[in-house]
Amino acid sequence: MQGRATLAGNLCNASPAADSVPAMVAAGVTVTVTGPEGSRELAAEDVPQGLGKTALERGELVSAIHVPARGAQGGDAYLRFIPRTEMDIAVVGCGVNLRVDGDTITEARVALGAVAPTVVLVRGAGDALVGRSLDEDALDALAELAQAACNPIDDKRGTVAFRTHVAGVLAKRAAKIAYERARGQA
Ligand SMILES: Cc1cc2nc3c(=O)[nH]c(=O)nc-3n(C[C@H](O)[C@H](O)[C@H](O)COP(=O)(O)OP(=O)(O)OC[C@H]3O[C@@H](n4cnc5c(N)ncnc54)[C@H](O)[C@@H]3O)c2cc1C
Repeated sequence: MQGRATLAGNLCNASPAADSVPAMVAAGVTVTVTGPEGSRELAAEDVPQGLGKTALERGELVSAIHVPARGAQGGDAYLRFIPRTEMDIAVVGCGVNLRVDGDTITEARVALGAVAPTVVLVRGAGDALVGRSLDEDALDALAELAQAACNPIDDKRGTVAFRTHVAGVLAKRAAKIAYERARGQA
């Protein structure tokens, strides 16, 4: 199967550094997988299973991608850190999806890329953010959770300590952007 810069290709390429994948996971994207035995639904985060490995069986392909409607009070953001300004893969990537009612966060999903063998859905981010505004305490709690979710490699592009630190920084920055967008202020 050969595409060209498609969401399905980026997901099934199963690179931990894929840029669209943390954004898809944060947005609650699901995919339809179709093969000889029929079709099944998978959450985007359940497709990559390791470097270059997916949950797809032989003969299966992604036949549809379902992106939940963001809604008037929803906002997304994806940020990545790269050492150069172009043509490089993420050292850390972070996608955030928020819904708000006024200033109060009603739903939150946060996902990280390039900090583990597969994309990481930051468990607990929803509980930490829902029911409050995005104040400094909420941002600090989010950064702590994001850093705790990291299990990165140590290489010339970034040490474990650096990638873990950047994950917290990007989670805060992406959350601020998503929050402004959700409130119609960006
Ligand atoms: C120079 C260079 C720079 C790159 N920079 C980035 C970058 O900055 N960010 C980033 O995220 N990626 C980057 N990539 C990686 C790559 O280009 C992406 O992963 C791309 O999004 C793959 O999408 P595609 O549609 O071209 O997939 P393809 O290359 O066609 O396929 C990728 C894999 O997915 C499988 N596949 C494709 N479609 C389906 C489907 N519908 N169902 C099941 N399996 C499928 C293919 O069989 C293949 O194994 C880079 C690659 C190169 C060579």
